[in-house]
Amino acid sequence: GDEEQSQDYLFKIVLVGDAAVGKSNLLARYARNEFYPNSKSTIGVEFQTQKMDIDGKAVKAQIWDTAGQERFRAVTSAYYRGAVGALLVYDISRRQTFDSVGRWLNELQTHSDMNVVTILVGNKTDLKDAREVTTAEGKALAEAQGLFFMETSALDSSNVAAAFQTVVKEIYTIV
Ligand code: GDP
Repeated sequence: GDEEQSQDYLFKIVLVGDAAVGKSNLLARYARNEFYPNSKSTIGVEFQTQKMDIDGKAVKAQIWDTAGQERFRAVTSAYYRGAVGALLVYDISRRQTFDSVGRWLNELQTHSDMNVVTILVGNKTDLKDAREVTTAEGKALAEAQGLFFMETSALDSSNVAAAFQTVVKEIYTIV
């Protein structure tokens, strides 16, 4: 009959970036439409599975959150294993988190066995008065490294779904 296939693809996506840039809240906003104003990187679950619709096909993204382990030691290689996509997040109000992007890219390349579709995400655009990294700087770095780029706010939701969807759609296109 014309029964739909319930699940066509499952993609592992990882969130990386310095502590407190908003990784857990981007996932909470995207998967549950929730936001935690005073989270201390402890709210992250290991992963969340999110159903998505890409060009009429059912796609599942298994999105992994570090749950704060980057505070204590390098993120383990198990975290990266099998990942086909990544959101590399910095905080537009803290330049040091932007300066760490190269290190996180190295981590991704060292630990993953395939080419990981990566979007550079400048989070916390709602903090307009505290901005330390311009949009142009983010865009330039992304272009130089061959990454997608988007600025988001987990607080006001802007571009959060779009950032996740950009990665999943690109993976879907190349598999
Ligand atoms: P993680 O360590 O990267 O997972 O960061 P968290 O998601 O735990 O967020 C760290 C802190 O930043 C928390 O106090 C969040 O409420 C706050 N935060 C996260 N995203 C945003 C955002 O888009 N805007 C603002 N203003 N604060 C945010």
